[in-house]
Amino acid sequence: MSFDKWEFVDRALAERQQQQRNRSLQSIEPIDAVHVLRQGQKLLNFSANDYLGLSKHPALIAAAQIYAQQYGAGATASRLVAGTYAIHEALEQQLAAAYGQEVALLFNSGFQANSTILAALLDRQSIVLCDRLVHSSLLQGVLTSRSRLIRYPHNDLAALEIQLQTAVGQHSRLVIVTETVFSMDGDRSDVDALIALADRYNAILYLDDAHAIGVLGKNGMGLAAHRAGVDVAIGTFGKAFGAFGAFVACSQKLRDYLINCCPGFIYTTALPPAVIGTIAAALKLIPTLEVERQHLADSAETLRQAVRSIGFNPGASSSQIIPLILSDESQALQLSNWLESQGILAIAIRPPTVPAGSSRLRLALSSCHTHEQLKYLIQCLEKFQLE
Ligand SMILES: *Cc1c(COP(=O)(O)O)cnc(C)c1O
Repeated sequence: MSFDKWEFVDRALAERQQQQRNRSLQSIEPIDAVHVLRQGQKLLNFSANDYLGLSKHPALIAAAQIYAQQYGAGATASRLVAGTYAIHEALEQQLAAAYGQEVALLFNSGFQANSTILAALLDRQSIVLCDRLVHSSLLQGVLTSRSRLIRYPHNDLAALEIQLQTAVGQHSRLVIVTETVFSMDGDRSDVDALIALADRYNAILYLDDAHAIGVLGKNGMGLAAHRAGVDVAIGTFGKAFGAFGAFVACSQKLRDYLINCCPGFIYTTALPPAVIGTIAAALKLIPTLEVERQHLADSAETLRQAVRSIGFNPGASSSQIIPLILSDESQALQLSNWLESQGILAIAIRPPTVPAGSSRLRLALSSCHTHEQLKYLIQCLEKFQLE
């Protein structure tokens, strides 16, 4: 028998299969802001991050068309070569102003921003303190840098402070990395307390605002916006902005550093004009959507109360993301499948995306979900518990 160079692939897939953690892609067709078609079945979608329904907003679609018409389908080069158009620079200025930071710099995705900015900020002598539940993209950045990674218990700032005390004098750079709203739990971090800690220990504070921007904070600009003590804030456009891409808001000095020292910015093609147009249109709309944000917050509160009284555990959710935490993976799958039979799309999230023993249904609300649609979801959850 000759050596099989793909043996490792077979083994990894067989292992996943055996653990029933095999993942596969499911094709859907979008119908409107809250409905999709899957295998011919119309489903009410509670699994998208399109928190304001902007992905289907006519102003965003029109802007994409106009920008593509005017500037072309692609940006043709990286930003440093010939890919910086006036539309990229104008958008960065508008973002910086709206976010209340000195400057902003566009990135092609949140994943790319986190995984490459952190790698550029850290060296092997750095110490990074990460909340245990941070997004994979943040960990990728830390791991690439081969710096020392310490994960503190979720939102446990007393534990974080002990780690900060221990780290003093032991590092080249000290960085705190966390999120403002956690993607799988929908709970928040205490931004004021984090700023105070970073200040006390002279640490760099890096906050990922992916699930808050568009939804929470002043003018819906997120929870890390307009905060002088936040050194690096990441916003993404694939969620409430209904588009694609990301940005970092930071100081002019740090922006200059990233333009020179961050490979994930330097060696990639600039975002295409249609995407820039879409983001610009969303940025213009978002401050005007206070009524939509209030409806979203009210819906989330209604749903949290309802699921608790039905007997589900929404954890510490305080946002539009409401998990139903079930210990068992098969329970999460069963509930997801049952909801699908009732015309509801609610995807089960299982390890390793969430810690073992905390499989869940991750319900994500949109301001476009009506009272009736929310009521239907709640009725279905009630019926499931009775069966
Ligand atoms: C979705 C998400 C990202 C990745 O952003 P993309 O633009 O989708 O690549 C990064 N951080 C957090 C916390 C996220 O939830």
